[in-house]
Amino acid sequence: MTTHTTRMLIIGSGPAGLSAAIYGARAGMKPIVVQGLQPGGQLTITTDVENYPGFRDVIQGPWLMQEMEAQAVHVGTRMLWDTIVSVDLDADANGGVFRAVGDGGDIYEGETLVIATGAQAKWLGVPGEMELSGKGVSACATCDGFFYRGKKVVVIGGGNTAVEEALYLTNHSQDVTLIHRRDSLRAERILQDRLFAHPNVKVVWNKAVDHFVGHAENGQLMAVAVTDTVTGEKSEIATDGAFVAIGHAPATSLFEGQLDTDDSGYLVVTPGTPKTRIPGVFACGDVMDHTYRQAVTAAGTGCMAALDAERYLQAKEFDEMAKEAAE
Ligand SMILES: Cc1cc2nc3c(=O)[nH]c(=O)nc-3n(C[C@H](O)[C@H](O)[C@H](O)COP(=O)(O)OP(=O)(O)OC[C@H]3O[C@@H](n4cnc5c(N)ncnc54)[C@H](O)[C@@H]3O)c2cc1C
Repeated sequence: MTTHTTRMLIIGSGPAGLSAAIYGARAGMKPIVVQGLQPGGQLTITTDVENYPGFRDVIQGPWLMQEMEAQAVHVGTRMLWDTIVSVDLDADANGGVFRAVGDGGDIYEGETLVIATGAQAKWLGVPGEMELSGKGVSACATCDGFFYRGKKVVVIGGGNTAVEEALYLTNHSQDVTLIHRRDSLRAERILQDRLFAHPNVKVVWNKAVDHFVGHAENGQLMAVAVTDTVTGEKSEIATDGAFVAIGHAPATSLFEGQLDTDDSGYLVVTPGTPKTRIPGVFACGDVMDHTYRQAVTAAGTGCMAALDAERYLQAKEFDEMAKEAAE
């Protein structure tokens, strides 16, 4: 069992955590990144990324994350392969540090803590979904909608996420079908009104997805197999792309009872900042952002977290010096 100490402890190694690390390391804070079960984060489970600035050609998600990690290490970050199982954010009770424990018992102590644990898209858990992920099945219209220009797409879900994804996809496709297993949507009324008024969107009610059907020859998605929840009748809806839009689960259970979360479980920060209610504890990326959920926004808030962490430490040191001078 080892104790690791740092000025900036970062939990999570996606775009948010690694961007915070790059800024923190360049500010001399010698950050430690605890990588978790998905080193590199969500982008490591996708292929083509076409919207991360700086690359004219399509790049691969895993490659982008390897580059980010290499850059973070190059400027002085320590990457540690562990998963945090508990945190104690009562710095006053711990000699002024935030403490985290890894699943092997290692202890991590940070003068500041950056939480970048991200979120995971919820999946239906039906056959073909994972096999065809990246081959027609996606959980992110903003990320992958562009690849379906002029093609037929379906969106599965009935809440705000599904309606927003369907409306977003009308930028690329003239043939968008929303598949919902009930006969009414849960989405906000204003979103529903926009959806129903859109000439390129059709809603298919009372259909539960059974499985995704791949093309025998090219291995790409070709249809979604559904069962009518009222009649039990089975059918297939032909499509080029299927967007599963049943929400996201932010990784916030570690912080339960110590930090505030909103109704959907995302960490609450002071608007426009990565500051949580505990001074010195910052949250960035998808774990605090249910609206944008993009690599570039995660990286942006990671940068903000590192800059604010540095300012927090500077202010603390200044206060301590002023106190000593007054004594
Ligand atoms: C299939 C797919 C395709 C996508 N395509 C694009 C795209 O083309 N363009 C785009 O901009 N965005 C895309 N996104 C969205 C993008 O990946 C996310 O917005 C981004 O990764 C969020 O970054 P993050 O750093 O906040 O969190 P994440 O990437 O979710 O990373 C979270 C990190 O926290 C770690 N972690 C969690 N819990 C713990 C713990 N207890 N201890 C230690 N570590 C922990 C994980 O291991 C992981 O490293 C896509 C997402 C998916 C799922």
